[in-house]
Amino acid sequence: MATTATRWVQLFRDGDASQRNLLGGKGANLAEMTNAGLPVPPGFTITTEACNAYFESGGKLPDGLWEQALEGLKAVETEMGREFGGAEKPLLVSVRSGAPVSMPGMMDTILNLGLSARSLKGVIAETDDPRFAYDCLRRLIQMYGKVVLEVNSDLFEDAIDRVKRKRGVQDDNEIPAADLQALATEFRAIVRRESGQEFPDDPHAQLRGAIEAVFRSWNNRRAIGYRRQNGIADALGTAVTVQTMVYGNLGDDCATGVCFTRNPNTGEPGLFGEYLPNAQGEDVVAGVRTPKPVAEMGDDPHLREAYGQLVEIAERLETHYRDMQDLEFTIQNSRLYMLQTRSGKRTGGAAVRIATDFVREGLITEREAVGRVEPGQLDQLLHPTIDPNATVQVLAKGLPASPGAATGKVVFDADEAEAQGKAGEAVILVRIETSPEDFHGMVVAQGVLTARGGMTSHAAVVARGMGKPCVSGCTALQIDYGKQEMQIAEFTIRAGDFITIDGATGNVMLGEVATVEATVGGDLAAVMAWADAARRMRVRANADTPHDAQVARDFGAEGIGLCRTEHMFFEGDRIDAMRAMILAGSKADRERALATVEPLQREDFAGIFRAMDGFPVTIRTLDPPLHEFLPNSPAEQEELARKLGLPANQVRDKVAALQEANPMLGFRGCRLGILYPEITRMQARAIIDAALEVADEGVKVEPEIMVPLVGTLEELKRQRALIEETAEERFRAAGKRIAYTVGTMIELPRAALLADEIAQQADFFSFGTNDLTQTTFGLSRDDAGRFLPLYVERGILEADPFQVLDQKGVGKLVETGTRLGRQTKPDLKVGICGEHGGEPSSVAFCHRIGLDYVSCSPFRVPIARLAAAQAAIADEDGTE
Ligand code: PEP
Ligand code: MG
Repeated sequence: MATTATRWVQLFRDGDASQRNLLGGKGANLAEMTNAGLPVPPGFTITTEACNAYFESGGKLPDGLWEQALEGLKAVETEMGREFGGAEKPLLVSVRSGAPVSMPGMMDTILNLGLSARSLKGVIAETDDPRFAYDCLRRLIQMYGKVVLEVNSDLFEDAIDRVKRKRGVQDDNEIPAADLQALATEFRAIVRRESGQEFPDDPHAQLRGAIEAVFRSWNNRRAIGYRRQNGIADALGTAVTVQTMVYGNLGDDCATGVCFTRNPNTGEPGLFGEYLPNAQGEDVVAGVRTPKPVAEMGDDPHLREAYGQLVEIAERLETHYRDMQDLEFTIQNSRLYMLQTRSGKRTGGAAVRIATDFVREGLITEREAVGRVEPGQLDQLLHPTIDPNATVQVLAKGLPASPGAATGKVVFDADEAEAQGKAGEAVILVRIETSPEDFHGMVVAQGVLTARGGMTSHAAVVARGMGKPCVSGCTALQIDYGKQEMQIAEFTIRAGDFITIDGATGNVMLGEVATVEATVGGDLAAVMAWADAARRMRVRANADTPHDAQVARDFGAEGIGLCRTEHMFFEGDRIDAMRAMILAGSKADRERALATVEPLQREDFAGIFRAMDGFPVTIRTLDPPLHEFLPNSPAEQEELARKLGLPANQVRDKVAALQEANPMLGFRGCRLGILYPEITRMQARAIIDAALEVADEGVKVEPEIMVPLVGTLEELKRQRALIEETAEERFRAAGKRIAYTVGTMIELPRAALLADEIAQQADFFSFGTNDLTQTTFGLSRDDAGRFLPLYVERGILEADPFQVLDQKGVGKLVETGTRLGRQTKPDLKVGICGEHGGEPSSVAFCHRIGLDYVSCSPFRVPIARLAAAQAAIADEDGTE
């Protein structure tokens, strides 16, 4: 509990980097640098506790704070040999926000505090530069007016523009001293008129007003929005640093800049950044003048020495913090001052390079290196990305369904996409939503864009499996298939026009935008090897073809966690046999049609087993509602009838009969195999025969047959009996046996709640968290995209639960199901194969609750490996 004796204020020299929560990132690092003997302008930090106390008391500075701030100020005055508001050698200070977690640009800052009628004269006398002094003054009134008194900042900017027009100058720097003096007067008048208050001439009143305003900025709309988006707790509060001003705009021996200790784009060693001679920090950020590469400071006789010192300090800071740093500095009259250091943001590629270089340089251990790369950032290394130098026009934003950037001609139809793709054209398949029927078009397209569907919609799942960029649920698209065009805001895009999509951000852009290819180098392999050594959980892949299985294995998959057999039915002519099976009038007809599919399935299974030699392969029996296999349009239905030699109305009636109001809760999953046991039998036969075949070749095969959407013990029991009967038959016929297991997906709350019962019949569980999320929330996987993004935007949900596992709710069912299942069978193998298996925070959760493996699309396997390793390390280190 904070009391009157609480220390609200701490001098830089009394703190250190470990006090991040109390002093904010900025305050803690300024303290650390001060104590390391680096040239930091003296100052003090007001704690985050003070900010929280300020809000708790309804906007009052807590008792003792102001007195302590004045003491801090005194200490700074003594150290600088200056007086706050003094007529000679006046001390000017900045007041800045600094939260425990970096929230760049979200809160407020006020510079040049301490300027009064009296101290202004002191600044003029000391610098012999009235222009500089008046410029400082007008900036102070402007910032104070805006931040503390909430005056519309446009009024100040308009006044500056008027002066510039009158003088015929372009740049603020060219406004003469007398005009700046007049502007300061005008700004005072604006403040008076707009706020009904005088800009205070008393430096102490300025300081107090600024401190309170920075506290308040913790709760401005920008900051709240940023916290929501980045999952930062409101309770952290911001610290406030009060620091002696130094100036980079006092002449040619002055400069200001920002730099990184290594290149944040590539990770290449060496100082990387920009500076502006004779300028203030804001000028670098505002981009009015073009900054120069920081290395050029070495060629400037005024700045050379300070540059040498900067290089040395950068190295020291990097070694000290054992991480790449992002620095802000100012050079005042050839003297270097450090204003900030913090861990630098970096691309995925840079993160990998820096982590491995640091290990080589002996700065960090291999285990630490594993924690230095954000798993989600690996996407940037595995897929093409938008060229950072390209100019883009974003037309709309959808869901970032499958990462990677792709450019191509718009095509609204899968057949057309296939034709053009095969002719060598780059196409983007644009659909209202995709269904299995569009698969062949997706295969050849560079990327897929849909107007409807969420993160686990067909388009998203299939594109992710193929490692193809996809933006789904882009509700701004109004697609007119008839006219072969779409409307996005005021743009009409026709078939054949170029667009670019970025599946990592969800952006849809006009025209051809340059992309850069992913480059996977040896450094990534090193990080992955260290990760593999650290993790406990296994990582498998969801893959449906021998090709995808091979890709998955190359990405390090240790088996297949989900083979969705239905995807095999869409290749080539197989769909016709499948359709004949669905339309069959009798069991005999159905069996005949299935017999056509069987050898093809067997071949695919054999190919997958070969690709996964030595690893388990989980194959799921048929899952989707049957109507998904039948054509929708009357023309296609007629064509199918002709092909199968059936009356057209029979096809039409069957399609109509199979329509369901809620297909995802309908005739699907194990319900298909229960009512049509011949489907399960055929699939079991194909699996066992394929396994026997490859075992003969010397392949080490471990088939796991998985039954989907089980809700009751009886369902699994019956399906298991069918599978076992079939397997025994095949073993007898072949005269030999192989080991196999039968398990189930847990995708329904009932199954999770009764997992102890269901485990009696299951050798393994695999949580299908796509369906489990759908059924737990009562949210449709296919339609929720219409409003779910708004739920996230408004903070009703922290994240899209189809993307990031809802640990609290759905996760509770996963945890409960695992625990109950293992009560019945302590060695029950348990994994997850929903899309969450490749999402870092969900993978960490799976580790914590003791799952044996996660399974995800091939391109996310490296992400899951790294996330699993980080979770294991956090677990062992007790840093979860
Ligand atoms: C699931 O529901 O999580 C799952 C993996 O199955 P599907 O996405 O095929 O329904
Ligand atoms: Mg499912």
